[in-house]
Amino acid sequence: MRDFSQDHRWLSINTATVRKQRGADWPLLEILDACAARGIRAVAPWRDQVAAAGLDATARAIRSHGLELSGYCRGGMFTYTDAASRQAARDDNRRALDEACTLGAACLVLVVGGLPGALAGKAAHKDLASARAQVTEGIAALLDDARERRMPLAIEPLHPMYAADRACINTLEQALDVCDALDPPVPDGTGREARSGALGVAVDLYHVWWDPRLAQQIERAGRERLLAFHVCDWLTPTTDLLNDRGMMGDGVIDTPRIRALVEAQGFAGYSEVEIFSAANWWQRDGGEVLDTCIERHRRCV
Ligand code: ZN
Repeated sequence: MRDFSQDHRWLSINTATVRKQRGADWPLLEILDACAARGIRAVAPWRDQVAAAGLDATARAIRSHGLELSGYCRGGMFTYTDAASRQAARDDNRRALDEACTLGAACLVLVVGGLPGALAGKAAHKDLASARAQVTEGIAALLDDARERRMPLAIEPLHPMYAADRACINTLEQALDVCDALDPPVPDGTGREARSGALGVAVDLYHVWWDPRLAQQIERAGRERLLAFHVCDWLTPTTDLLNDRGMMGDGVIDTPRIRALVEAQGFAGYSEVEIFSAANWWQRDGGEVLDTCIERHRRCV
């Protein structure tokens, strides 16, 4: 396992972590400046932040700072109620794919969607199985384009508390079942199986830390399917389902143990800090939050 205690070479900042400090949006280009000034080598921006800053201006800033993108957030939301909403989802995902390519992201992260309409407050139905089928269909359609563009797609399983409104893929096992169905492993001639790397998973510890099958499924994923590793912490108590994520070290997730599991499979990418924290970290100075991320990355990840 890599030693993170001496430097922060493998720290990435998901820019939602510092998206609105003390009530005001922190502009993405300023976030990139602040990351680069601290020797942070990678980020993962969100589409709305990129749209506000301008795609070309963002791409230029990333290049001039020499930053890498550990991922691009996000595509997905594949579920639909009719032909028009299905097409709208497909079009939007193609735009997300284009943007990820322009920015040179390591992968496009997919938050797949739940029951259609639920996120807006009224689910169109209660048929979770059909929502899951639509997700598989949507990923299949996007995968053809993604392969052509050489942009890996990373399915992010979300904690089951989001099954209704954000993502009906809730475990690593479910995500890997979709990967195996759409991008089947093939024998590599040495008695083992090879995976293309075109489709894989984003392992976000906030969503999967509790899973009794986590170790087994990380091993199943193997290096080619492990496309991203997101860290934060699970607070006790958690006071908000979405925006009360903790800083690494402040909660109950055994992050080093899980990082050892993904690294045992050969994962050697960034640990991406992704914290939505309306009452705590978003109330602080952005530079202080970044400095804390660096310190906790060295000590707690
Ligand atoms: Zn995540």
